[in-house]
Amino acid sequence: MSETTFSGRLLTWFDKHGRKDLPWQNQSPYRTWVSEIMLQQTQVKTVIPYYLRFIKRFPTVEKLASATTNEVLHHWSGLGYYARGRNLHKASQTICQQYDGELPNTIDELIDLPGIGRSTAGAVLSLSKNQRQPILDGNVKRVLARCFAIPGWPGKRDVEQRLWQVSEQETPAQRVADYTQAVMDLGATVCTRSNPSCHSCPMTNTCLAHKTNEMTLYPGKKPKKNLPEKHTVMLLLRNEKSEILLQQRPPSGIWGGLWCFPQCEIDHDIQSWCKKHLGFSINNTVTGNSFSHTFSHYRLHITPVYAKSGETTHSVMETAPQLWYNRQQPQSLGLAAPVSKLLRQLDQPISEKSL
Ligand code: SF4
Repeated sequence: MSETTFSGRLLTWFDKHGRKDLPWQNQSPYRTWVSEIMLQQTQVKTVIPYYLRFIKRFPTVEKLASATTNEVLHHWSGLGYYARGRNLHKASQTICQQYDGELPNTIDELIDLPGIGRSTAGAVLSLSKNQRQPILDGNVKRVLARCFAIPGWPGKRDVEQRLWQVSEQETPAQRVADYTQAVMDLGATVCTRSNPSCHSCPMTNTCLAHKTNEMTLYPGKKPKKNLPEKHTVMLLLRNEKSEILLQQRPPSGIWGGLWCFPQCEIDHDIQSWCKKHLGFSINNTVTGNSFSHTFSHYRLHITPVYAKSGETTHSVMETAPQLWYNRQQPQSLGLAAPVSKLLRQLDQPISEKSL
């Protein structure tokens, strides 16, 4: 590899400093795919234990395809962005039905599967099959935007197209798997968002942003907009066995398919709401401290309300799937992040008192 090219410098650096012991490296296309989906929006050190547990339970695409959604989401609990887990599961079933259990070999076929975009498809094919395919994840966007001084926010179509062009042009014909790992590693470990280590970067002499000391101007920032605010009450209802009522969310939308506490509007009369929607009265009601959970498109303020379930008032005809959750012997369920947090708090003495 020539030291005069972007890829040549990067590969020389990779041979010395790149990460070569990640648990998904040099693995099957299925395992590479699982890791790439987990790594979307999540850092390597967070992903590793989840990946190891997931692969232990679902070592092959067939095992994943034959699992229930609940079980898959249970293994995803805590990683966030649950649509990734649901899509992975759906895609595994398509792979088994249409591709005989083998991940497809082309970008177009991969992109047709749920949850796989162009960059993930490129990463799967380059890393596991050494196909010459460019990638453009968040780390790579940052490295390329800085090295080639590409202005603008990458969420804008024309900026993204320009970055894809550069990524395509710089991807080498040989050692593609190493190159892909290298460019991701450089972004994750050297060319970091707020404090790039230019002194230890193989691109120091050629990087245009470094030349003008404008590293943090690239990539351009997303135009700011204020997130709308919403409020909800989460009801932590306990029965006589100290089990907590959970309901399953509809398959699509926020926390799709995950299990949550019953929720009502902040201004509802909770007693009447429980009688009407759950079919029982409640007593010993205590309101906990509110906290907020931020989604990409709004901020949700959550007020927990703790209560004991009381007498059955009538049977409820239409309700989401629900169950009483046993904290001592927890069922395998995918739980929304605020639900896991509130359940954990129940184990702390101060909250236990409020129940
Ligand atoms: S020289 Fe600095 S800004 Fe340029 S790619 Fe390297 S770390 Fe990033």
